[in-house]
Amino acid sequence: MERTLSIIKPDGVRKNIIGEVVRRFEKNGLKVAAMKMAELSKKEAEGFYAVHSARPFFGSLTEFMTSGPVVLMVLEGDNAIAKNRELMGATDPAKAAEGTIRKDFADSIESNIVHGSDGPDTAKFEISYFFSETEIVR
Ligand code: ADP
Ligand code: MG
Repeated sequence: MERTLSIIKPDGVRKNIIGEVVRRFEKNGLKVAAMKMAELSKKEAEGFYAVHSARPFFGSLTEFMTSGPVVLMVLEGDNAIAKNRELMGATDPAKAAEGTIRKDFADSIESNIVHGSDGPDTAKFEISYFFSETEIVR
C-alpha cells in the first residue's frame, strides 16, 4: 500500500468535475484515505511549490493555485503514486495521453486540473503539508 497527495486545482473545482475526477481514481483502484476542501493562502501555495520557486512560472502558478478553492486528498493503493500520475496524464494537456484527466479537461500547461506527488519523498512531504496523521483513515 502506498499513499500519494492529490489536489483538484481551482480550475477543476470551477469546472464542477470533482466527482468525475474522484470517480476515475476510484474506478482505477485508488481509495480516498483523506479529503478536504481548502482555499490556499499565497504563503501556503508558495511553500507547497517551493521546489519550483526559481522557475519563471512560479508567480503565476501560485496566483492560479490561490484563485479559488481546491480539493486536497490522500489517495491510497498499490503503486498509488505512479497510478495517480498515469491517470492525470502529462503536465501539458497537449502532450497528455488519450483518456487521461488532463487530456480530457485541462486548458493549459498551468491550468491542468490536478496535482499528484511525483515520488515517495515528495508524497510524504506533501501529505504532511496538508494533513495530520489523525485526519487520514486507516
Ligand atoms: P506536474 O504537476 O505534472 O508534476 P511540474 O511539477 O513540472 O508538473 O509543475 C508543477 C505545476 O506547475 C504544473 O502542474 C503546472 O500547473 C505548472 N507548470 C509547469 N510547467 C509550467 C509552464 N511551463 N508554464 C506554466 N505553468 C507550468
Ligand atoms: Mg510535480
